[in-house]
Amino acid sequence: MIYPGGKHALRDVDLEIPTGMFGLLGPNGAGKSTLMRILAALMEPTSGEVNIFGYDLRRQRKQIRSILGYLPQDFRFFAKYKTHEFLDYAARLSGMTGTRQRKQAVDTMLETVGLFDVRERYANKLSGGMKRRLGIAQALIHSPKVIIVDEPTTGLDPEERIRFRNLLAEFSKNDVAIILSTHIVGDISSTCNCMALMNHGTVAFYGSPQQMLSRAEGKVWRIKVTGDEFFEIDRRYPVISTIPSGTGWEVQVVADAVEGYAAEPYPPNLEHAYVYYMSLLN
Ligand code: ADP
Repeated sequence: MIYPGGKHALRDVDLEIPTGMFGLLGPNGAGKSTLMRILAALMEPTSGEVNIFGYDLRRQRKQIRSILGYLPQDFRFFAKYKTHEFLDYAARLSGMTGTRQRKQAVDTMLETVGLFDVRERYANKLSGGMKRRLGIAQALIHSPKVIIVDEPTTGLDPEERIRFRNLLAEFSKNDVAIILSTHIVGDISSTCNCMALMNHGTVAFYGSPQQMLSRAEGKVWRIKVTGDEFFEIDRRYPVISTIPSGTGWEVQVVADAVEGYAAEPYPPNLEHAYVYYMSLLN
């Protein structure tokens, strides 16, 4: 994908996204939103093909839109709508024409996302977490087969983040594909069965979080250092954590090997694996 002006935002992206929860991980600027907008049929790629449940993205946009739910990163509500009115409006836009059927679907969805009690509140007066849940409700209201969620947990507190994740995981049991873009490793490790790591517009890793983690096996080290040594370590290796220990520090670094220090191997988690990959790429 090349933007006007010449920016290559995506290059040689070849991905197969299965049903269930799929995580698209990568730093800011990696190309995640661009890929999401293409998949959501909002933008045409400069070249290449996209096939969604057998539909060709270039020729069958209308069919694709009918099976697609999208929650963009900067989702906004119109000030004039109450929570239930907004959802009803979204349902109408998604082609749900029967009034009774729509009312039923709106009520059920408000229950599902935990907003039934605040349905009379104006949508723009909801809390951050509630707005996010209303955002996902509008993406799910017409029972789509593909749900695209861009940076869903940005700005949410930990409790809301977990709640939002669980909501998506629950919905993913219905044989749908949920594509979730994030720069937060924790969003992926706890819910996604398949993932891709993006960097500078290319796919740097594709597989399960477990596979990504196993590639960082033996690459995480724990070192005890004095204050002065710390600066040397920090200059040489990506440091993941620093904990005060006695008169010095205990640091965790990712590296193929550590020279000149007594380093103990440490079992990696997905965050370590992410830092390891990024250290290889940059
Ligand atoms: P991410 O979602 O991973 O942060 P984006 O897809 O937003 O990444 O951006 C990928 C690259 O494309 C970045 O270098 C960004 O500056 C550039 N980019 C994004 N949108 C546009 C646009 N509308 N016009 C030109 N360049 C863009």
